[in-house]
Amino acid sequence: MRRPLIAGNWKMHKTLGEARALVDGIRAGLGEWAVDVLVAPPFTALGVTVEATRGSAIAVAAQNVHWERQGAFTGEVSPGMLRDAGCSHVILGHSERRQLFGETDDGVARKAVAALDAGLVPIVCVGETLEEREADRTMEIVERQVERALRALSPDAVAGLVIAYEPVWAIGTGRAATPDQAQEVHAGIRGLVARSHGDPVAASLRIQYGGSVKPQNAAEIMAQPDIDGALVGGACLEAASFLEIVRQSAQ
Ligand code: PEP
Repeated sequence: MRRPLIAGNWKMHKTLGEARALVDGIRAGLGEWAVDVLVAPPFTALGVTVEATRGSAIAVAAQNVHWERQGAFTGEVSPGMLRDAGCSHVILGHSERRQLFGETDDGVARKAVAALDAGLVPIVCVGETLEEREADRTMEIVERQVERALRALSPDAVAGLVIAYEPVWAIGTGRAATPDQAQEVHAGIRGLVARSHGDPVAASLRIQYGGSVKPQNAAEIMAQPDIDGALVGGACLEAASFLEIVRQSAQ
C-alpha cells in the first residue's frame, strides 16, 4: 500500500510572515488523514517554515539544490545545507527549472545522487510539452527523463525517492490531464522502473501527478491506481484549497 504524498510547491511566493501564516493555517485544518503532507517554500522562508512545522507531521522541501557539497558556486545551495536547515525533501528538475533555467537530465541525475547521499528525498519531476504530446512522443520523453535521472542509482536509492509526473501543458494552465491520461503515463513509469530496478522497487515507488490539481479534480485523479499523491502549485498557496486536496486524497 503506497501512502499518498501531497506536496505544495510555493514557487517564488510567500514572505516570512506569509509562510508562517500558511503553515499555521494548514496545521489548524489538518485531520487524521492517511496522507503525507509536504510544503516547499522558497529558500528564504525555509527557516520559518521548518520552525512553524515543528511538532507536526508536515515535511519541508526545497525547490532546488546543487550537487556539490560546498565551494565557489555563487547563488547555489548544497544538499548538506538543506539538511542543516531542516529539509527532508528536495524538488528536482521541475519543468520551470528545465525550461527557464536550462536544467538538463544529467544535472537532475547528479542532483539526485547528491541529495540521496545527504539524506534528502528527491522528488524528481518529469513531463512532456504539449508539442511532444501532440506528436505522440509522451512516453518517449518521460521514459528518457526517468531513465536518465535513475540510471546511476541502486534499487535501494530509487526506493527512497519520489517521481512527479507533471505534463508541462498542465502546469499553471487550469487544464489538468484527465485521470486516464495521467494513469497511462504513471503506469508506464512504474513499468519502466520495474524493468530497470525491479518489481519490488516499482511497486513501492510513489509517483505523484502535478498539473492544475484543484479541490475540484483531486479526488478523481487520486483514485487512479498508479497515482500516489500530487505536486500542487497554484492551489497550495491558500490553506483551504491545499487542505481540501489533502483531504480528498485520503479517500
Ligand atoms: C507545479 O508547478 O508543480 C504545478 C503543478 O503547478 P499548478 O498546480 O499550478 O499547475
